[in-house]
Amino acid sequence: MKGDKSPLVVFAEVVDGGKIAPCFFETLHAVQKIAEIYESKVHALILGHNVADIAEDIRHYGIDTIHIADDACLGAYHPEYYLAAFRQAYEQIRPCAVFMGHTLQSIDLAPRMAFDLNAGLLTDCTGIEVDSGEVLFLKPVFSSHILAGYEMKDNPFIVTMRSKSFEPAHRWELKQGTLNIIQVTLHQLQAKVIITDRVMRESAGIKVDDAEIIVAGGRGIGSSEGFKVLADLADTMGAAVGASRPPVDTGWISAESQVGQTGAIVAPAVYFAIGISGAIQHLAGMSQSKKIIAVNKDAEASIFKVADYGAVGVYEEIIPALTQTIKDNLKA
Ligand code: FAD
Repeated sequence: MKGDKSPLVVFAEVVDGGKIAPCFFETLHAVQKIAEIYESKVHALILGHNVADIAEDIRHYGIDTIHIADDACLGAYHPEYYLAAFRQAYEQIRPCAVFMGHTLQSIDLAPRMAFDLNAGLLTDCTGIEVDSGEVLFLKPVFSSHILAGYEMKDNPFIVTMRSKSFEPAHRWELKQGTLNIIQVTLHQLQAKVIITDRVMRESAGIKVDDAEIIVAGGRGIGSSEGFKVLADLADTMGAAVGASRPPVDTGWISAESQVGQTGAIVAPAVYFAIGISGAIQHLAGMSQSKKIIAVNKDAEASIFKVADYGAVGVYEEIIPALTQTIKDNLKA
């Protein structure tokens, strides 16, 4: 990558019918750091329909050029239309590397792009490091036991970056950078994938992915009734209720609440781990929380090794008392 002056492109994923996915701003921040090291330009690429406002808005983030491919076929994610549009944009931009947030969409799209370009692909990167002037991309491997460093030797390459792994890019008062409209031709494409329906699942309460405070329970909670005790605590603080895997497997709480290697990756300001032992697969999803507060009846539980604060005892006594104390303080 060293010496290659072609731009670094950050893929700006459009979600919820017209917003940029929050992880774009985090990925952008990481890429701006990489661009400083290599003295590269940072470009953004938006694929979508009616995305002019979004493009204008991201001019506040210090991007050199924002490319826009706007087409009715790109109104919602479709793997073949998106791949075709990306390829056409790629031919014009000729980037040295493409960076994307690690999202459900990029999990599908990034390998297709890499195959199409015969490019290297590194997924779920959580950090960057500089070694002898080269950027190393860090990624947890072997159930997060090891943080491996990868150097991308050949250009172009594609990297997806885990959400909440980087601070979001700074929003500047002034707009800058140029907008470049890329004309894509998609209507002739004979798509093999037919999207028959899109289902948006409504979830009650605050989602763990968005929450600043998470009250998470594990097997130690014992029942769905026990989770109501946690929900009471969560309500007093405007927090989301999360869970380790066993409560989800046993049906005490819905799957969207699961945190960990096979659940959500979160990094809230405060994470309560209640009746959770601290298995590596759970830590993989929450160890980047700013403050971890553990409640466990076993003083030797591994969760206390990563916790900033801890209470040893049964949650049935500790949590209602904590909830009441918070309520009393809020009244005072
Ligand atoms: P346990 O390990 O059984 O711990 C329960 C804890 O509750 C104990 O420490 C106990 O002392 C405490 N306790 C019991 N009663 C009370 C009480 N009354 N008050 C206070 N404390 C009490 N796990 C995840 O969480 N997320 C994942 O995404 C995930 N993905 C996985 C992927 C793979 C491929 C595999 C193999 C496993 C995965 N797991 C995942 C499972 C993981 O290995 C652990 O089994 C799981 O995290 C343990 O959950 P736990 O801590 O709630 O339960």
